Amino acid sequence: MNAVQWHEALLIAYFAGSLFVFATLSLVAKAAYGRHKGDKTAWWWGPGVPTRASWIFMEAPSALGFAVIYFMGERALAPVPLILLAMWQAHYFQRSFIYPFMRRVKPGDTTPLLIPALAFATNLGVSFLNAAILSWNGIGQAYELSWLADPRFLAGAALFAAGWHINRKADAMLAALRKPGETGYRIPRGWLYERVSCPNYLGEFLVWAGWALAIWSAAGAVFLLWTLANLLPRALENHRWYRRTFADYPAQRRAVIPGLL
Ligand code: NDP
Repeated sequence: MNAVQWHEALLIAYFAGSLFVFATLSLVAKAAYGRHKGDKTAWWWGPGVPTRASWIFMEAPSALGFAVIYFMGERALAPVPLILLAMWQAHYFQRSFIYPFMRRVKPGDTTPLLIPALAFATNLGVSFLNAAILSWNGIGQAYELSWLADPRFLAGAALFAAGWHINRKADAMLAALRKPGETGYRIPRGWLYERVSCPNYLGEFLVWAGWALAIWSAAGAVFLLWTLANLLPRALENHRWYRRTFADYPAQRRAVIPGLL
């Protein structure tokens, strides 16, 4: 198979895979990291590995792998692909190399091995799907300068920026709930937390909806679908966990979409 055929095959695999992931995480087993580590299906995910290192390991392919694949492409130095590369890295450089050190992780905390292992492989595939679209000849569109004035790019970039801000602020507010050395959970208060339990996931959805619009490609749409499949069940589970855990949890809060879900 050549690169174009690999790309097409992987797109179909990720589309089908996202349906499988959604069904599995909704009906069979929670992703047993963080507050869900004690779930009865947790043993499915294997032995624990250090949490902070596992975050760097599983997210790094999305920053480094993406950059390598991107620069293998013939159009890598064209201005619009470079702008799209900068958008991607604005998210993933932070997620891979800064965010793991912002999480308040208790000494010795672990994450089940299968989670970073599967995420590593998934992120590598997603990086190929999206990086090749930007810079490889024969895959994706040429992205002329005029694309920067296209309403799809403009709306996508605005959505991406809004999602980035929401995701970062929401994660920073969670980190601020614990003083150094603390390990417990509190009810988050203020800002979007008054509307939903998981504004960090809401921000993540907006980032990838914006990306899908800005690159206007099936690769972006499939990644958005994958992210929804992965994080929607977790958002609903986190929401149920909050309501179970805190008797005074605000009744008006939804899980992830204000007023809706
Ligand atoms: P969580 O909200 O489960 O946890 C984030 C951090 O905040 C953890 O350190 C957690 O501690 C802590 N925390 C959460 N709730 C509370 C609380 N009520 N009180 C005190 N501390 C709390 O997020 P995830 O770990 O699932 O995700 C982190 C980031 O990664 C998010 O931005 C998410 O969007 C992104 N992500 C993206 C994915 C994708 O598919 N693109 C997949 C997974 C994550 P502890 O670990 O002890 O529970």
